[in-house]
Amino acid sequence: MKAVVWHGVGDIRLDDVAEPRIEQQTDAIVKITASAICGTDLHMVRGTMSGMRPGTILGHEGVGTVEEVGTAVRNFKPGDRVLIPSTIACGYCSYCRDGYYAQCDNANPNGMQAGTSFFGGPEKSGPVNGLQAEKARIPLPG
Ligand SMILES: [Zn+2]
Ligand SMILES: [Zn+2]
Repeated sequence: MKAVVWHGVGDIRLDDVAEPRIEQQTDAIVKITASAICGTDLHMVRGTMSGMRPGTILGHEGVGTVEEVGTAVRNFKPGDRVLIPSTIACGYCSYCRDGYYAQCDNANPNGMQAGTSFFGGPEKSGPVNGLQAEKARIPLPG
């Protein structure tokens, strides 16, 4: 599939990459129909946000159609139209229950103290491949 890939500061390319797949049963795969270009993408292009891993797909926000869900996903099914915000959150930890999704204890694979996990960000945010792609793996859709 096609995706916008970060190779280095000032070096962003439209590449052919492998399609995402379910990695955890709490994942969904979404076929992206539109994705945003936001101000945070400019940090990656200009190098004003450090720690990007070469090969990371960019893009923080998108809309699309659910294509596949893991067995632990309860609230979405293939065919659902969805909006994907940049911040990844579990929805059930104490922070999420209070509405502080950016402080989620469970979303960041680097651990509870690692900070906000978001699509298309630097190493410390996951990294989780972003949404400027034909398809994306969405952790913890609920
Ligand atoms: Zn954004
Ligand atoms: Zn949470």
